[in-house]
Amino acid sequence: MRAAVLEEYGEPLSIEDVAAPDAAADGVVVELEACGICRSDWHAWQGDWDWLGLKPPKGQILGHEPAGRVVEVGSDVETVREGDHVAIPFNLGDGTCPQCANGHGNTCENVVPLGFAEVAQGAFAEQVHVPAADYNVVGLPEGVSSIDMAGLGCRFMTSFHALAHRADIEAGDWVAVHGCGGVGLSAVHIADALGGNVVAVDLDDQKLELAEELGAAATVNANDAGSVPGAVRAIADDHVGVSVDALGIPETCRNSIQSLGARGQHVQIGLTTEAEGGTIELPTDAMVMSEIEFIGSLGMPPTKYDEIFRMVASGKLDPSAVVTDRVALDDVSETLAAMTNFETVGIPVIDEF
Ligand SMILES: [Zn+2]
Ligand SMILES: [Zn+2]
Repeated sequence: MRAAVLEEYGEPLSIEDVAAPDAAADGVVVELEACGICRSDWHAWQGDWDWLGLKPPKGQILGHEPAGRVVEVGSDVETVREGDHVAIPFNLGDGTCPQCANGHGNTCENVVPLGFAEVAQGAFAEQVHVPAADYNVVGLPEGVSSIDMAGLGCRFMTSFHALAHRADIEAGDWVAVHGCGGVGLSAVHIADALGGNVVAVDLDDQKLELAEELGAAATVNANDAGSVPGAVRAIADDHVGVSVDALGIPETCRNSIQSLGARGQHVQIGLTTEAEGGTIELPTDAMVMSEIEFIGSLGMPPTKYDEIFRMVASGKLDPSAVVTDRVALDDVSETLAAMTNFETVGIPVIDEF
């Protein structure tokens, strides 16, 4: 099968013919119809995240936002069938540890990150293998397209978990979203659907326009604002209850914390870059004085997808609204290169393998 393989960090991925996967006894093989291209792929491509144990080895197939059809089913799999239309969350759980058993498969004690480790070759390929398929495979509702649902494996569900499960958005809360890449724009749309008044922050007017279309009540261009927290607080009359760092650099993280009113919740979705190496300095005294919470949020447990699908069915959420661009597998490297200077808007999706 064709696959985009990481041969050298920062160099174009190599489009190669590689062996197609076989289904393990507990696994399935999915034929790809769509796979989102994500800033996390850019981090992997750069060779970041060795401090997390997530620096992929050379020879890795990247890609972790797949949707497609099941074409092979392992002998022990009970609930997934050949032909099922599915999405796969990037945080693959074992389905059996105490975290998984309690509904927290995103923090599984044996979690395997799809596309970041040799044992979990990714989805920039014609086919991808999914272990513990009964637990990890998410069946898609009737009538939705794989392309529209490509963000469900990562960015859309990450923002949903952050805002619907980790944070408490209360009636009339202002919700600030710092960074309007794919995950940030998803957060804008979801926070609006959950009843928040959203302030979107970015450096790029095109992304802020899309944020407004997705439900932002106000936007702040960080280039124009003398103080981003000051601008956000002025819009929200100091009542920002939830603020999200959807990028993971010191500026967005601290701007997010400083945007909050008393007893506000900062939600960290973005992971840091090589420059920070996993650590950002925080204004801890100010956080104590205002009882600010710092909440980490990672992916989403596969058992929670029905909540998203109910909101999609009722028309409150539309994951396709964040999908902006379609590319071929051969063009993945160009899209990754464009992410270096934040030139992509929304979620680009591979739809031609
Ligand atoms: Zn992703
Ligand atoms: Zn587990």
